[in-house]
Amino acid sequence: MLPDYRGSRVILSSNASDAPRPRASRKSRQPSYDAIVVGGGPAGAVMSWSLAKRGLRVLTLDRARFPREKVCGDFVEPRGLSILQTMGCLGELESTGPLAITHVNLTLNGKTAYRGRIPFYAGQKELPQHGYIIPREALDQRILASSVAAGATLQEGCQVTAVERVDGTMIVHYRDATGDQSASAPIVVGDTVVAGISGGDLGMRGFLDAYRADTGERIWRF
Ligand SMILES: Cc1cc2nc3c(=O)[nH]c(=O)nc-3n(C[C@H](O)[C@H](O)[C@H](O)COP(=O)(O)OP(=O)(O)OC[C@H]3O[C@@H](n4cnc5c(N)ncnc54)[C@H](O)[C@@H]3O)c2cc1C
Repeated sequence: MLPDYRGSRVILSSNASDAPRPRASRKSRQPSYDAIVVGGGPAGAVMSWSLAKRGLRVLTLDRARFPREKVCGDFVEPRGLSILQTMGCLGELESTGPLAITHVNLTLNGKTAYRGRIPFYAGQKELPQHGYIIPREALDQRILASSVAAGATLQEGCQVTAVERVDGTMIVHYRDATGDQSASAPIVVGDTVVAGISGGDLGMRGFLDAYRADTGERIWRF
């Protein structure tokens, strides 16, 4: 089934006065991309990289300026390391000598419930048998750099305030240092609809799906 885009306008700002003023959207006046990714954290940057590698013209918008720090334990688990390897940025991050994590000490009600090697790793033979502690300031910057190297356009200092559907186009409204701006991307690129979400701090695993526009069949998932 195709993702449902029937909601025509989503205001992202919690402060109504921050939202863009209502106006007729004119597609021709906006820079147009194949895909617009909101947020250049690990989820957004990997998504931008993945789309740009497939030849799409991608715009990544983030309200922050990178490198930026992010509250986090900084632990990248083996599956994350394997994505970094696929992206070609693991070697550079490893050259800074990150702390490898192989063991865990699990405490329940003040008592050690388990202390030893992380059991999950043993069952994942194709993955590294360790995670790394990599500060987010360095990690996020490196992943973003890979997305830009793959061809994505990065615009920092851009607060996205609303996402609006106009006919077959998504219009992303954002505010940068010069004022209100917008950019557009089609819902259907070629014969494909691409949609995805970040897991964010909700603890979900994010994903990126591509569907055939005519049948709704899923073509790939990243
Ligand atoms: C205390 C703490 C410890 C954690 N420790 C770990 C850990 O050790 N290992 C681990 O794997 N995970 C950990 N996590 C979870 C991890 O931080 C998140 O899962 C991860 O940051 C999610 O990445 P993301 O790209 O989805 O979001 P983020 O990293 O939050 O990136 C989102 C980006 O979107 C931008 N953005 C948001 N809204 C807008 C907007 N409207 N307009 C423009 N830009 C916008 C932000 O500026 C930000 O750069 C921890 C989380 C917390 C809170």
